[in-house]
Amino acid sequence: MRIIGHLDMDAFFASIEERDNPRFQGLPIVVGADPRGGLGRGVVSTANYAARAYGIRSALPITRAWRLSEAARQQGKPAAIFLSGSWRRYSEVSAAVMALIKEHAPQMQQRSVDEAYFDLSPTGSFPNATALCRLLKARIQQELHLTASVGIAPNKLIAKIASDHDKPDGLTVVAPADVADFLGPLPLRAIPGVGPVTEQFLQKRGLRTINDALALSQEALEELLGKWGAALYSKIRGIDTSPLREVATAKSISEQTTFFADTLAASVLIPQALELCSHVHERLHEEGFTVFRTVTLMVRFADFTTLTYAEKS
Ligand SMILES: [Mg+2]
Repeated sequence: MRIIGHLDMDAFFASIEERDNPRFQGLPIVVGADPRGGLGRGVVSTANYAARAYGIRSALPITRAWRLSEAARQQGKPAAIFLSGSWRRYSEVSAAVMALIKEHAPQMQQRSVDEAYFDLSPTGSFPNATALCRLLKARIQQELHLTASVGIAPNKLIAKIASDHDKPDGLTVVAPADVADFLGPLPLRAIPGVGPVTEQFLQKRGLRTINDALALSQEALEELLGKWGAALYSKIRGIDTSPLREVATAKSISEQTTFFADTLAASVLIPQALELCSHVHERLHEEGFTVFRTVTLMVRFADFTTLTYAEKS
């Protein structure tokens, strides 16, 4: 029997800011681009729960976040605090979180800066795995003064959905016998990979919950969604046999910038691109790498159209 855990830090960047700046305690915090009084560019990276109560969330254009904050302020609520983020500090805290997980569950796979899968099978049972995760959460709380949400399940897919089920500070256990009951009533959006566009597309066809979609054959789902339909057919049944990858396979270093005024002038763009490249190159060495495989350039226009170009070395 496999027992897999997935841990996801709650509002990670914003929680670190709240922890490190006592004057922000309890206030809405938004980490992301500079809103520049409603004229800024770029998006929200993380919002804490007080900011989410205003409707501010990750990936929202920063100007919309700013307007939501202003609307709240006009109702007498505190305005959101906008911060550009201290990435070095966040990656230090991330390393501390990952070290704590590894101490309790040595076979782990870091998924992102604040998420990891880990193998709980050696504990022998779901109750033992649950006890271990309670301890892990308590240590993160006591030693790092941050909260995490954890899911425990028979595979990575369900563990990830479970960690998201009861945020913040959640612990959701889905034993093999409970998989169908757990997944059935969830909105299709709970499936990793189903974004707002797919969700809307499916809703228009009367498909809201996982139970709704279970009624469709694999062929019917493929007809609706193409290749992704076959994957979704397995996912809504909780099927996932993917192994933990101990060594992070994809490691990337990136830098980005946002222009305050629209421009296509090479005299503006090229010096900026060169500066970003030299930062990335510096960090490559700082992090101990001697080679790289792929260089990717991404351009996002004012209307959020995004183009990428990748070159393998
Ligand atoms: Mg998180």
